[in-house]
Amino acid sequence: MDTTQLRINARRHLGPHFTRRDTWAGDFPVFVAGEGCHLLDTEGQRHLDGLSGLFCVNMGHGRSDIARAGAEQMGRLAYATNWGSAHPPAIEAATLIAELAPGDLGTTFFVNSGSEAVETAVKFARQYHVSQGQPQRTKIISREMAYHGTTLGALSLTQLPAIKAPFGPLLPGVRSVPNTLGYLGDCGPAAKLPSILAIESVIEEEGADTIAAIFAEPVQNGRGALVPPDGYWHALRALCDSHGILLVSDEVICSFGRLGHWFGEGITGVVPDMVTFAKGSTSGYAPLGGMIAREGLVQELFESSTGGVFSHGATWGGHPVSTAVAVANIEAMRREQVLDNVQALGPRLSESLHSLKAAHRCVKDVRGTGFFYAVELMADRFDDRELTHEESLTVLRTVLPESFRRTRVILRGDDRGATMIMVSPPLVADSDVLAELLHGLDEMLTDVEKVIQP
Ligand code: PLP
Repeated sequence: MDTTQLRINARRHLGPHFTRRDTWAGDFPVFVAGEGCHLLDTEGQRHLDGLSGLFCVNMGHGRSDIARAGAEQMGRLAYATNWGSAHPPAIEAATLIAELAPGDLGTTFFVNSGSEAVETAVKFARQYHVSQGQPQRTKIISREMAYHGTTLGALSLTQLPAIKAPFGPLLPGVRSVPNTLGYLGDCGPAAKLPSILAIESVIEEEGADTIAAIFAEPVQNGRGALVPPDGYWHALRALCDSHGILLVSDEVICSFGRLGHWFGEGITGVVPDMVTFAKGSTSGYAPLGGMIAREGLVQELFESSTGGVFSHGATWGGHPVSTAVAVANIEAMRREQVLDNVQALGPRLSESLHSLKAAHRCVKDVRGTGFFYAVELMADRFDDRELTHEESLTVLRTVLPESFRRTRVILRGDDRGATMIMVSPPLVADSDVLAELLHGLDEMLTDVEKVIQP
């Protein structure tokens, strides 16, 4: 089938996710193959995948070892549950994850996506508190502009008004608190940070003993790769400890090497009570998500008089093929020392992005760490002129999509609180791939400046 016909069939029969009607009506790319850090489309064009799919293809495309592990598992045992029984791939994956996760984060409940992982954490928090005689602890705190997923529970925690508006009423008792935008490095005592003081006020207003959990990402994606200031996570941990609140680190993007560490603790220095993960756990070769809980909490729930069972599950939870793929993916990450690659090249990538900022008046800020960055745009940094709403729409809907196509470097234009370009290459990218990415980005920024007058 030729590309035109594929697009016609897609428009008629395929429901696109988060895709505007005009994009779907246009010449959207149709990808047919992947090779390392590159994708091939139906027209034979090669594109650099500078976003690792959606922050997930950490080990790159087209790997026969990971594909083989999935195929072999499918041939051996395509399906069995983790309900009252188990199977080797899920046990192996959970054991590997326990080995890599910090502290006593040792029990993984597998699901199939990041949203489901967040749902699982919300439900575990609530049921845990019920099991400990505190059923009134149902409320959740999450941070402004954070994205925690699209299912109704996860969407309740998501603090992006535009994607929540059509779906209310959502979960009650979710409070939004400031994120750490504008604070980086040493900002004085963390307990005095406005973002921490705001959480304290919410806890006081709501009553500490009504709050089940605080959710935060180690580096927040929504609002553009917000790296926390020094001590922030220790202050979060202290607040949770003193009020009996569970601390959930949403690491759907940040785990499995994206920041140069297996888990967020590598940069936060803090062991949370639960970690949610998905994307990089399989590098996108199969759908998988999960919630890792501290073993002690799981024991307490299981052993409580009202507990004995975590009342949650899914047919595909811990699917044999997905967990076999996760094992192959994690073993490949270890063998090929991709975390070392991110730690070695991440600072150079950051430096180069800052050089692009110096060279382009349209760059307001560069944030991020590891292989995870946001380039925030404005009209003119030298004149301190922000983009107007119309200019931002032009950049995001016309200039960048055309630029991605022309440069054959795929990044992501992001409008969550600012106009941004997200950069998140596969963790196997070497310096040549990063140079290709940076060259493309340089051209994109020039394209923005051609259209947006100072
Ligand atoms: N949490 C975070 C931090 C995410 O970035 C995402 C997705 O990007 C999700 C949750 C939801 O994951 P999924 O799209 O797999 O449902």
